Order: sequence, then structure tokens, then C-alpha cells
Amino acid sequence: MTLNFTYTGSPARIVFGAGVRHQLAAAIDRLGCSRAFILSTPQQAGEAETLAASLGGRAAGVYAHATMHTPVEVSEAAVAAARAAGADCLVAVGGGSTTGLGKAIAYRTDLPQIVIPTTYAGSEVTDILGQTADNVKTTLRDPKVLPEVVLYDPELTLGLPVGLSITSALNAMAHAAEGLYAEDRNPISTLMAVEGLAALHGALPGIVADPRDLEARSGALCGAWLCGTVLGTVAMALHHKLCHTLGGSFDMPHAETHAVLLPHTIAYNAVAVPDLLAPVARIFGAPPGAALHDFATTLHAPTALRELGLKEADLDRAAAIAVSKPYPNPRPFDEAAIRALLGAAWAGDRPET
Ligand code: NAD
Repeated sequence: MTLNFTYTGSPARIVFGAGVRHQLAAAIDRLGCSRAFILSTPQQAGEAETLAASLGGRAAGVYAHATMHTPVEVSEAAVAAARAAGADCLVAVGGGSTTGLGKAIAYRTDLPQIVIPTTYAGSEVTDILGQTADNVKTTLRDPKVLPEVVLYDPELTLGLPVGLSITSALNAMAHAAEGLYAEDRNPISTLMAVEGLAALHGALPGIVADPRDLEARSGALCGAWLCGTVLGTVAMALHHKLCHTLGGSFDMPHAETHAVLLPHTIAYNAVAVPDLLAPVARIFGAPPGAALHDFATTLHAPTALRELGLKEADLDRAAAIAVSKPYPNPRPFDEAAIRALLGAAWAGDRPET
């Protein structure tokens, strides 16, 4: 096959290492800013306050109201609070929900963003913003939304509960696995996907064994950066579409849903593109769907949608919604194929391919 691709690198500054959160004041100065508006969830307000206190007068305020699914009314209230505080930049400390709030404010104000991620979701390196209005979640891509600076400090992930660590990491792995067969993939996105998968494969057993193992945490966070960058670079397919459907229409939890579906969506596509998914088989074992199921089981991750509270009676409607709009996928599908896939994921079956 001859190569044919377009590659656009994300113009972001990435700083990685234990303790780099202490470089936040310097990162604010480097942006030419002096009034940082610091965002977190209510659960992580303590971390946001600690960061604010370390900024020597550069903190314009702490706003600890980030919540799941980036509701538009929360974002609009946050924009008003940032304006009232005279903020000239945003600092998001937390997971994808907090990063999402920062992106939503940046989308409306064009304020520069610094993100200090504490999960493996990867949102900090994408130009994607998901928002919810009237119970409908929509997604947009805009350069304004891409954070300017990311400070990856694995010390901040030491307290991430093991269960969330694993499901969040499986969420990251899904970005990389789908990146391998993305129709707009390129040699750089494939390199990052393979390295990201290998890093998470190497690190996650260590986190289960000892959640405060800084080396394992560092490997996982680096893997998450690589996988997130793949998400920000190429187009996702069936797996992300199904997760979006289950999250948006059935209020299923984000990272856990990714974790459960990943073996099934990869097993489905492995039939059509075994060569493109060969790195997954090399890293995790063959066949790739079964190997990903076994990996998740070893890590005590959830493996069945029914464990997450989805009703069997909802599967028909989920399949119908998932096929209602066309999108690219390496293996063609119809409603019956998706219903079968969802049925297997609901039951927690081990895929055969
Ligand atoms: P999250 O941000 O919702 O965090 C879950 C909970 O864990 C929160 O209460 C949070 O405060 C807490 N938490 C986070 N880090 C912690 C830590 N180190 N220690 C203790 N508690 C911690 O979860 P998430 O999975 O990171 O993000 C999910 C959201 O991100 C979804 O809404 C999803 O759509 C979005 N997302 C967006 C993109 C994108 O590119 N736009 C990519 C991935 C995910």
C-alpha cells in the first residue's frame, strides 16, 4: 500500500515529570499572564486551593464547580465568574470533567489554558469539547479549545483510586487502539498509539500491585499523554461512537463504559483489519479482543455493561441510536451486528477474535 496522509501537530507545550506542578507559576509567567483562574471539581478543591496558594499573587480565584458532561449552564456561570475575577488565563487541575470546563470557558473567551491532569482521559491534548444542553451531549472541534500548556505530574495521580485508574487507562487505550485503524492515521499517530499502548500495558499491573508506585504512575501518565494525543490527531470510529451513545442517551459512566466495550469493538474490527491491529496482538496477545478482555480481567476492571447498570431491554434502542448516523469504521456494520456486539458486552462474554 502506498502512503498518503496529512499530519498536523498540536501546538501545545508539554512538561512531564514528578513535581512539575511546582512550575505552574513559571508557566503562567511564560504565557505573559498574571491572573490565573483555577478550576477543579468539588472533590479536588483542596488541590486547587494548594496550587492557588503556591502562586505568589498570580491566582485570580478558585472555581471548584466542574462536573461531569460539561453542562452549558455550569460553563456559562464559570465564564461570568472568570470575567468578574479579571482572569487572564485558566488552570484546570483534575480529570476530563475539569479539563472540559476549562475548554468550555476557553471556547467562549479564548483565554489561554494550562492543564494539570490527574486521570488518564487525555482530554488535555485534544481540540475536542463535549458539552451537554437539555440532556443532549454534542461534540465540537475548535483550535481555541486546545490547551496551550500541560503539566503532567505523576505525583498528583498517586491518590487516584485504583478502580478509576484502570478504567481511565482503558479509556486511554481505546484512543490508541482506534487510532491504529483511523482512516486519517499517519506514521506519527501510529507511533504514538503503539508506544502509548505499550506504556499502559507495562504500567497498569504495577498500579494494581501498589497504587503509590511512582514509576508505574509515571509510565501510565506518559502512556495516557501519547494515547490522548492520538485522539487529538485522528478520527475515532465504532468504539468511541458506541461509548458516546451509551453515555449520552443512557447516562452510562464514561471511563467504565470504554473499559467494558474495548475488547468487543476491537474484536469486531480485528476481523477486517488484523494487520492494522497487529500491534495490539503483539503487546497484549492474540487474538486482540480476547487478549484485551483477559488484560482487563487481570486488572479487576468491569467487563460487563450489566455490571454498570444498563438494562438488557435498552440494548435494542442503543443499537438503533448507534447506527442512526453514518461514520467511518474499518468493518461495515448494521443494526443487527451492533446489537450482537452490545449483547456480548452486556453479558461480559470473552470475545473470540
Ligand atoms: P472525571 O474528570 O469526571 O473525574 C472523576 C472523579 O475523579 C472526579 O470526582 C474527580 O474529581 C476525581 N479525580 C480525578 N483525579 C483524581 C485523583 N488523582 N485523585 C482523586 N480523585 C480524582 O473523570 P475522567 O474519566 O477523567 O473524565 C471523563 C470526562 O472527560 C467525560 O465527560 C468525557 O467525555 C471527557 N473526555 C473528554 C475528552 C476530549 O477530548 N474532549 C477526552 C476524554 C474524556
